[in-house]
Amino acid sequence: ATPTAIMAATGQAARRGLFIKDGTALESAGRLSVLIFDKTGTITQGQPQVVRFIPLGGMDESRVLALLAAVEGGSEHHLGRALVAFARARGVRADMAEGVRAVPGSGVTAEVDGHRVVIGNARLLDDPQAEAVLAEIAEHGQTPVGMCVDGKLVAAFAIADPARPGAPAAIAALHAMGVRTIMATGDVEPAARAIADQVGIADLVAGASPADKMKMVEHLTAQGEVVGMVGDGINDAPALAAAHVGFAIGTGTHIAMDCAAITLVGGDIAKVAEMIALSRRTMTVIR
Ligand code: ADP
Ligand code: MG
Repeated sequence: ATPTAIMAATGQAARRGLFIKDGTALESAGRLSVLIFDKTGTITQGQPQVVRFIPLGGMDESRVLALLAAVEGGSEHHLGRALVAFARARGVRADMAEGVRAVPGSGVTAEVDGHRVVIGNARLLDDPQAEAVLAEIAEHGQTPVGMCVDGKLVAAFAIADPARPGAPAAIAALHAMGVRTIMATGDVEPAARAIADQVGIADLVAGASPADKMKMVEHLTAQGEVVGMVGDGINDAPALAAAHVGFAIGTGTHIAMDCAAITLVGGDIAKVAEMIALSRRTMTVIR
């Protein structure tokens, strides 16, 4: 590979909204055999809306929403932001809670006025009843989030986040180039399956922790695959770093961009196929 050709291609990529940090990524992209896509914020628009609020009694609704806004107030996660917007739209004003702990791929926990508040998926929640309540929401193809106070489920939320309009075409373009696609998400199976079906991804791994996503990359690599990862979140960072080529959504978190070799500036996942095509052209010319 001549440095001049690589530089020219890097410039060409930049003009198309593909910011390449690491020159070897330009060379590897054309050889990718499989691409793992995160769901939330990557395949989906990342502008989730609370479509159902289910108070479960035992606590005043306005108190539930105030705690929700306080604990998720500093959240970088799309779901956290959607929950805060929902509380605010109902007139809730709350100061941000201190000492909130984010558990990537699961949710957030905090201690507020001596009460333990946990917001997130069934894995994180400390009420054994949570699983059934959240499963019912997921059956409708929506992402469930529960909220526990002192170990008791006080509310559940159903959240919808539609697929990006261009996602089916972006995935179809990759398949046409002979690249396999897999969706890996921390979300639950039925909600994830609805999105995967919409965009044409057959292989799905749901309930994946950030470490699981990274292990998928390693496992496929060990099988001789050349593995790309596309993601936007903190939860994708380890997988983005482990992949042969990591693609970060430019509108996502900074840590995802730090860990990825390539940033899709506008967050347009159709650029992944463009990158592969550009790499293949560049490497053919060079040889
Ligand atoms: P994805 O892999 O689709 O991007 P994540 O791994 O970020 O999803 O999150 C997985 C699950 O963890 C979410 O579906 C949600 O149930 C829960 N979760 C993560 N962060 C939060 C948060 N800040 N508030 C509530 N739930 C959260
Ligand atoms: Mg994501």
